[in-house]
Amino acid sequence: MNIHEYQGKAVLKEFGAPVAEGVAIFSADEAEAAAKSLPGPLWVVKSQIHAGGRGKGKFKELGPDAKGGVRLAFSLEEVTAHAKEMLGNTLVTAQTGEGGKVVNRLYIEDGADIERELYLSILVDRTVGRPAFVVSTEGGMDIEAVAHDTPEKIITLPIDPETGVTEADSKKLCDALELTGVAAEDGMKLFPILHKAFVEKDMALLEVNPLIVMKDGHLRVLDAKVSFDGNALFRHDDIMALRDETEEDAKEIEASKYDLAYVALDGDIGCMVNGAGLAMATMDIIKLYGAEPANFLDVGGGASKEKVTAAFKIITSDPNVKGILVNIFGGIMRCDVIAEGVIAAVQEVGLQVPLVVRLEGTNVELGKKIINESGLNVIAADDLDDAAQKIVKAVKGGA
Ligand code: GDP
Ligand code: MG
Repeated sequence: MNIHEYQGKAVLKEFGAPVAEGVAIFSADEAEAAAKSLPGPLWVVKSQIHAGGRGKGKFKELGPDAKGGVRLAFSLEEVTAHAKEMLGNTLVTAQTGEGGKVVNRLYIEDGADIERELYLSILVDRTVGRPAFVVSTEGGMDIEAVAHDTPEKIITLPIDPETGVTEADSKKLCDALELTGVAAEDGMKLFPILHKAFVEKDMALLEVNPLIVMKDGHLRVLDAKVSFDGNALFRHDDIMALRDETEEDAKEIEASKYDLAYVALDGDIGCMVNGAGLAMATMDIIKLYGAEPANFLDVGGGASKEKVTAAFKIITSDPNVKGILVNIFGGIMRCDVIAEGVIAAVQEVGLQVPLVVRLEGTNVELGKKIINESGLNVIAADDLDDAAQKIVKAVKGGA
């Protein structure tokens, strides 16, 4: 689960990280009061969307010459003018996709005088099975280009979970970021704080880009992109409360109500599968035959008819779906339950696209019988290979 920058900063502040003062607002009327409550004379007006690259982003409604989604303001009037221009408009960044995201919230922040922009993130490094710091002196808005052109400028430091961040680790990070004097003193305190926040809050990613050295030598967390491990959210009510459903895919929200593991994708073949491994294999084989899956969907081992119906409805509500592949290996899950769920869903929402069903396992004969006798226009398939070829052919046409 992702949260907004200002929420991420509030979480980091609880742990003692240095962040600027700021106020989140939802309407332009609130802009002046928000700015007045901050010291000035420099303010930053920041679009709050669940995507990075806001500074270089463009508002769809404002034309190519308008300023981006993160703007400096030098007076109260300017803060309000920016707020009016940004709120309600659609910001397109390198991370939002072409559609962009509507800006419903702004963060008005006390501006900093920047000396250097650094990059710092913490994530779980799967190759070593540990949280790792990733840092670079070349922080700021071009970090993707740095990673591409000069990857040697990006340094990774895994942290031993037994010890946490040791003094030696912090020194290494200071050296990697070329911190000296006050900045190095700040760094020695900050790195363990960030690691503690990452571990205690079950973060999946903590990205501070940029971490800045200010003109006065001190460090400050200037941007914060934080996402949490969904499987651990049950033990963080405070984080759950930060969820902003307007930033999430409506289909994914619906799926989460039924406890379905669903991820929306860009392709045109909807998939309903049981078991994450089989779902991955199904997506792979669809790609192998030259098409793209519209989603990942694992209905789980013991799905009820209601769950299967809900899953089918979510798939058909996606206008990109040009065909559906149901691929079930019935172990705990019975094929007749799947068949009944599919039929119930089709009767409720109708079937406008080709449907290929491959059933195997417990009660397979009964499942096939239910589908055959339903009068539905279902293409039966014998195995995964056959099923994938049939749905790709049905969607793409041809021989
Ligand atoms: P992003 O573009 O979505 O990553 O948003 P950031 O929060 O990283 O802001 C983008 C850029 O705006 C930063 O890299 C800075 O160069 C600039 N910026 C943000 N806050 C301040 C500030 O307080 N003072 C100054 N001078 N620049 C800032
Ligand atoms: Mg940034």
